[in-house]
Amino acid sequence: MKVYNNILETIGNTPLVKLNKLTKNCKATVLAKVETTNPGNSVKDRMAVKMVEDAEKSGVLKPGGTIIEGTSGNTGMGLALVAIIKGYKLICVLNDKQSKEKMDILRAVGAEVVVCPTAVEPSDPRSYYSVSKRLAKEIPNSWYVNQYDNLSNRTAHYEQTGPEIWEQTEGKVTHFIVGVGTGGTISGVGKSLKEKNPNIKIWGIDTYGSVFKKYKETGIFDENEIYPYITEGIGEDILPANVDFDVIDLFEKVTDKDAAVYTRRLAREEGIFVGNSAGAAIGGLLQLQDQLTENDVVVVLFHDHGSRYVGKIFNDDWMRERGFLEEEFKTAEDVIARHADLPL
Ligand code: PMP
Repeated sequence: MKVYNNILETIGNTPLVKLNKLTKNCKATVLAKVETTNPGNSVKDRMAVKMVEDAEKSGVLKPGGTIIEGTSGNTGMGLALVAIIKGYKLICVLNDKQSKEKMDILRAVGAEVVVCPTAVEPSDPRSYYSVSKRLAKEIPNSWYVNQYDNLSNRTAHYEQTGPEIWEQTEGKVTHFIVGVGTGGTISGVGKSLKEKNPNIKIWGIDTYGSVFKKYKETGIFDENEIYPYITEGIGEDILPANVDFDVIDLFEKVTDKDAAVYTRRLAREEGIFVGNSAGAAIGGLLQLQDQLTENDVVVVLFHDHGSRYVGKIFNDDWMRERGFLEEEFKTAEDVIARHADLPL
């Protein structure tokens, strides 16, 4: 029988899919590493397993213990699956910017969810960094994962995601583009690919409101760069230990609107239903496309599934309220005129 012994064994070996329409004016071949086929519907399943297994090995996580993490949802989902299979309890601390769908999904897989305000300093006792640390201190037999500074995060991508991309492209990959949050994905994949071929370019996608780009370019941690933004999962107001600035060649910032618009276009034009950090990655690629040639093979990683954003990016009212809807066809005349323009 061809069976998996449990759901964790189905993690990884995600497909690499050519983009055909959205990047048609880009000279390079663009391939999407679509991480939504992981059982938790995001790339984060990979590092969740690795962080827990390393914690078991080092003894900081003991049988029956409680796993605590400040998570934007996807890491929580991955940790929830690991906790179920391995018999741990899980508490996820989220900020209030995260979609309600993400919180409901976490509760569905048995996690306890604590919601904290986004608009406070990381050092504020109400921030999700502070709350997670406090829970870990006060709850007995608990372990604080800390995906930002826990280097098992990037090791998971060094051991799995990077080699998968190298094998799937038969070593032809020339560029890797991905949104950066904890930095685990870009740093692990980047190190792995550069060890195979140091000429491979590693481009990180950042948000307006985040410190990464300026820090990479100047070495300055500029607090003026920090302000609230909408794109989920990428950009930070801290410098996580997982970000290996040496393997990243450049950062590109993408607006919330472009991230949202390209995310919707990925669904409609490529049939790839993913979250807005994927749209940001495509926006960044298109902003940088003058640097690409027809010989280039670009891999863009899409972190998570679009179902987590149906109340947001995929909701017209939500998009309209933020001025993100590109075009609107309100009257019958508009619709008829639009159909007259469509090719037969
Ligand atoms: N996109 C989404 C949707 C995410 O949840 C994350 C994780 N924070 C990222 C991108 C960034 O990945 P990483 O943390 O590995 O840099």
